[in-house]
Amino acid sequence: MCMLYMADPADAQAWRDCLSSLAPELEFRLWPDVGNPAQVQYLLAWESPADLAGQFPNLRILYAAGAGVDQFDLSQLPDQLSVVRLVDSSMADIMAEYVLLAVLALHRDLLAYRQDQRAGRWQPRPILRASQRRVGVMGVGNLGRAALDRLQPLGFQLSAWNRSLKAVPGGRCYVGIEQLEVFIGQCDILVNMLPLTPETTGILNATRLACLPRGAGLVNVGRGAHVVEEDLLAALDQGQVGAAVLDVLVQEPPSRQSPLWTHPRVLITPHIASDVQIEGAVEVIVENLRREKEGRPLLNVVDRSKGY
Ligand code: NDP
Repeated sequence: MCMLYMADPADAQAWRDCLSSLAPELEFRLWPDVGNPAQVQYLLAWESPADLAGQFPNLRILYAAGAGVDQFDLSQLPDQLSVVRLVDSSMADIMAEYVLLAVLALHRDLLAYRQDQRAGRWQPRPILRASQRRVGVMGVGNLGRAALDRLQPLGFQLSAWNRSLKAVPGGRCYVGIEQLEVFIGQCDILVNMLPLTPETTGILNATRLACLPRGAGLVNVGRGAHVVEEDLLAALDQGQVGAAVLDVLVQEPPSRQSPLWTHPRVLITPHIASDVQIEGAVEVIVENLRREKEGRPLLNVVDRSKGY
């Protein structure tokens, strides 16, 4: 059994060490030393090489080296190939930590105080209790669920929006596109945790941002292309959006001229809200080896029809 690694070379040794300790039966090969391509059954990659079926005729599973799969053209992958995401609970915990940080920063006006400090202004603002703040999460998947669970003990009024109905601690789950704008209309802080698909690309555009209560905060940890950045910048300049914390951008890093670098009410971070955690990811791989042997369904398989 052989796994070919085609992701970040800087992490290759850590993956090799972890796999050889937890799955010693799995031979680890590092691209471009493919060896006999017919022996490659598993591929761990950030992007999929062209003509996968032609190059690796016995490939069974493509493991995505990132949490999302929007970098793959799923329609081009062989039908029999399973695409698997390497998400685990530690990755969700790390994401929840970031969401908590961002929501608290917006809740306690941290970006405005950063501006005041630079301007030499000593200007206390009214304090709202968490129970007076409505926080809404778009996408109640592995990561959205963990974020909601982490936010709940702080006492925020929580709600969520999702394709299918999900339980939301202490709050309501809005479902489907027809309830999206009503959901957005009751979010003082809106947190985007959706996967990027044709349906969700550009979902936070001028029309949707206009539905937010005036001065609301936005957190984007999904993908940059969920937000129409020009629309967000306009909404910030009009005061419709009060402040934004963006971990993901349309272009990463943004161009030197991008106003996102210097906007006083925007905090950007370089796509670090969370990341695949090697040990947890290898546990998924090991469990899937077991499941394959036993003929059971694999963990974390992407539903190609949905695109996530
Ligand atoms: P999941 O696949 O577990 O969950 C996705 C959720 O979004 C599901 O609950 C799904 O609904 C919902 N959803 C998808 N499409 C729609 C839609 N059109 N309308 C309404 N709801 C929809 O993904 P994860 O939680 O693991 O990850 C989410 C995303 O977070 C990733 O795809 C990635 O882009 C991003 N990410 C960002 C990171 C960062 O560092 N910034 C790190 C890791 C991930 P349903 O349950 O009904 O299927």
